[in-house]
Amino acid sequence: MSAILIDGKKVSLDIRERLKRETEAFITKTGVTPGLAVVLVGNDPASAVYVRNKHRACGEIGFYSEVHELPEDTKESDLLALLARLNDDPKIHGILVQLPLPKQINEEKVILTIKPEKDVDAFHPANVGRIMLGNYRFLPCTPAGVMALLDAYGIDPSGKSCVVIGRSNIVGKPQALLMLERNATVTICHSRTVDLPSYTKRADIVVVAVGKARFLTGDMVRPGAVVIDVGINRLPDGKLCGDADFASVSEVASAITPVPGGVGPMTITMLMQNTLSAAKAAEKDE
Ligand code: NDP
Repeated sequence: MSAILIDGKKVSLDIRERLKRETEAFITKTGVTPGLAVVLVGNDPASAVYVRNKHRACGEIGFYSEVHELPEDTKESDLLALLARLNDDPKIHGILVQLPLPKQINEEKVILTIKPEKDVDAFHPANVGRIMLGNYRFLPCTPAGVMALLDAYGIDPSGKSCVVIGRSNIVGKPQALLMLERNATVTICHSRTVDLPSYTKRADIVVVAVGKARFLTGDMVRPGAVVIDVGINRLPDGKLCGDADFASVSEVASAITPVPGGVGPMTITMLMQNTLSAAKAAEKDE
């Protein structure tokens, strides 16, 4: 292996230490403890793990946090009523509804119900629009985590050719915008892209977010490129693996994020950062 390993666990720990210090200072100054409410509907085991991790991270950093666990057959109106209460609760600065939701609940309605000032996932159209305009309140957690990793390793996207594979609303599209804002020349590829390797082979930075195990192989990557692997795929043996074929890509790339231990740990850390920002904005302490 010739690539440098971009250690998301380490970067994430460093940022969480900083957030802990900032939170202490904020509480001392304002008397207000940043608060996050996480809402989980149904019994999806992966979602339950994410929610538990978010709750634990809040405790470590010094936030107040509430977890609302609602049954699988929850009515949409009951969830919206809970969100309305959380919107008005001064203890709560950030609200997150764990997706996916059971089918009787309209995801769009749920996202629209959360006050944009408390939308720490940055999924509300008002926040998405602000990202488009480069005047954001919060950044979506996974793409923000990718940018923080690049910064931690001194990888400046400015003037570089960047290919983002995937165009989902939570990863690919906002990732491309954040790269553009940092002056990369960005190409977004997706399932209808013809001859994907012809794009990836020219890229200085490849961000892969397709949800297919070992999709990006070493022969698709330019020697010396940086590869950021957002994918989290569970293999039949229960192990996790990314969207990049680590063995072959790490022979060619100059730097790569491992899975697990790369982008994954950054996502919750960025959620914590957004919650602190929301509390600071509410207290006009920015
Ligand atoms: P989606 O399924 O919403 O999007 C996948 C994207 O990949 C789509 O835009 C799709 O294109 C594209 N795609 C699929 N097949 C191909 C192909 N053969 N060639 C090129 N593009 C292709 O996934 P998400 O964006 O939500 O997630 C992507 C991955 O990132 C998943 O593994 C997910 O688990 C992981 N993830 C990790 C997070 C973390 O914290 N590390 C957070 C969020 C996600 P099209 O639009 O044309 O269908």
